[in-house]
Amino acid sequence: MSDGVPEIPLFVPYLGDEVRRAALDAIDGGWIGPGPLTARFEESIAARLGGERRRVVATSSGTAALHTASIVAGLGPGDEVIIPSFDYVAGHQAASASGADLVFCDVDPLTWGADPESVRRLVSPRTKAIVVVHFAGVRAAGTDAILELARARGLRVIEDAAHAFGTVTAAGAVGSHGDLTCFSFGPVKIVTSLEGGALVLGDEQEEAVAREVRVLGLDADLSARYQRARSVQYDVLRQGYRYHLGSVPASIGLAQLALLDSFIESRRRACLHYDQAFAGIDGLRTPATDWVGVSPFEYVLQVEDEETRDLFIKHLTSSGVGAGKTWIGGHETTFYGSCRRDDLAVTEAVSRTGVIIPLHSLMGSDVLHRVSDVVRSFFD
Ligand SMILES: *Cc1c(COP(=O)(O)O)cnc(C)c1O
Repeated sequence: MSDGVPEIPLFVPYLGDEVRRAALDAIDGGWIGPGPLTARFEESIAARLGGERRRVVATSSGTAALHTASIVAGLGPGDEVIIPSFDYVAGHQAASASGADLVFCDVDPLTWGADPESVRRLVSPRTKAIVVVHFAGVRAAGTDAILELARARGLRVIEDAAHAFGTVTAAGAVGSHGDLTCFSFGPVKIVTSLEGGALVLGDEQEEAVAREVRVLGLDADLSARYQRARSVQYDVLRQGYRYHLGSVPASIGLAQLALLDSFIESRRRACLHYDQAFAGIDGLRTPATDWVGVSPFEYVLQVEDEETRDLFIKHLTSSGVGAGKTWIGGHETTFYGSCRRDDLAVTEAVSRTGVIIPLHSLMGSDVLHRVSDVVRSFFD
């Protein structure tokens, strides 16, 4: 192991033979830019999600998908977007890149997703959109209430589902319904294309906007490239970005998609093992889910206070077990420190006491037992 990589890392992307072969096949195919494989990746994502008339636009990253969503939602200077302070920096940056002002809501104490009551308190005449994060793969408990609130007030809802590809509830897969849903296929995500993402939406005209935004505001260029040709004639219709997804990552993503069910299965089994191993330990809270329908991204424990967390993380890492802290609130950063916000008591508690432990696709039972033994030994 090289310096700084623990014996059991937090994340281990699955990059087995079929995934490597997919990358080589795409390279050997002689067209590495966006092309037919990108189109196939989009179609396969749509098929996986289900849901009628949902449209998938593959992007170069989850952040690019979120930024594109904020443009599709019409966010701009003078608008407000309500977003959990408890979110990854990428979510905050993608929203503020639109020029809109961030307004920080608190999260609910169970799923750590946007709290609808907090959102309700923050809605102002300037509010244009609400961002919901499905933390660790568990669909945020307040999502339906927020979708309803948004519908009643004519607001847009951007679901940051970077953690939740493959998660299914009674209402269907995350992304199969709702408003604007964004996925990430970054290095540590459940499905990785090394780097990549997707925006999923329901409106044909908004899909066209997203496709233009994705490739430098050009009109027809990318659909031509999907046919492996560059169009000679083009027009520029709007401000755009270079957010398209090439053939090699798309090919890797396709190989990963084919394995998704086994990834989810194995991760759920690992989570249930952890739940059982940690049940009844004083001062340790396990995730508030039974994992049914969940595509588990991270396994996150909660300890009693920040001091215990520091000691716990030291214990884990000195035993060769990777460990991570939950995000700090956006409101605690320099750049977003002066954003309007609700009382953020849950965010502050969660950001100081959450501990992420290793969870991998197809995780070996020896590794799993080793991690649980090291966790338990801290509390003995
Ligand atoms: C990973 C992640 C993103 C960004 O996705 P990238 O593909 O890394 O750009 C956004 N939000 C959350 C919650 C994430 O975990």
